[in-house]
Amino acid sequence: MSRYAYVNGRYLPFRDAMVHVEDRGYQFADAVYEVCEVRAGRLIDERRHLDRLERSLNAIRLRLPMSRAALGVVLREVVARNRIGFGMVYLQISRGVARRDLAFPVPERAPCIVVTARALNRVRLEALAAAGIAVVSVPDDRWGRVDIKTVGLLPNVLARQTAIEKGAREAWLVDESGAVTEGASTNAWIVTGDGRLVTRHADRAILGGITRSVLFDAVKALGLTIEERRFALAEAYAAREAFITSATQNVMPVVRIDGRVIGDGKPGPVATTLRQEFHRFAETG
Ligand code: PMP
Repeated sequence: MSRYAYVNGRYLPFRDAMVHVEDRGYQFADAVYEVCEVRAGRLIDERRHLDRLERSLNAIRLRLPMSRAALGVVLREVVARNRIGFGMVYLQISRGVARRDLAFPVPERAPCIVVTARALNRVRLEALAAAGIAVVSVPDDRWGRVDIKTVGLLPNVLARQTAIEKGAREAWLVDESGAVTEGASTNAWIVTGDGRLVTRHADRAILGGITRSVLFDAVKALGLTIEERRFALAEAYAAREAFITSATQNVMPVVRIDGRVIGDGKPGPVATTLRQEFHRFAETG
């Protein structure tokens, strides 16, 4: 099946979808992005993702180059042209193309906007969720503003690669105090021995996940207690359950951390229930 991408106003066949070598996203990671889940061809939590996109753009002093409504149309068009039933849509906005120089270009350039979409293997994801995944810890050596969703993901790339090479699916990043911040592309959660959910508070040291924030509503509705605080790797090893969240993986149970078995080594009831209930609390466009 042919794939299409949106690049600066045009829907192009995938093989022709290119940006210039002096695009500032390519040169400096001077760009922000979003990833939305697509289910039954519909965008999940579009409003929240576009809110976060606007926060990221503000933080790097870039403006949304089209109205939110127009951007929504583009996202849906890319999903439709690629015939995505279950999958994801990716959006990236850079500070445009200019002679390579750190300072913002003068005059301001038109931002470069790229939107792609692809199908995800739902059966495989459900099988992973049923078995639970392994994670390994690595030092969190990222910059101080990882709350901004920029494409500057080299530390995340290296962390994920380390995880894969150690037979795990995700890396958990550990700060200098020994606390878990988040995953390479996911938020990290544990369930304590007395059944409380713990995830790190959202400051500048983690990306405030949309899945994470939707889960807050689900957790409250289900009568569970959440604590937003630091948790040490040692506390995670001793947890009753652990899981990760992201737009494309939803709630994904973790059954091993650094080779140590979590709980009874199977996905726990809290993670399993939250995974089942998630879409009752998410917005479907
Ligand atoms: N943390 C990081 C570092 C991420 O890259 C992501 C995924 N974009 C998340 C957390 C999860 O965010 P979301 O639930 O919005 O996908």
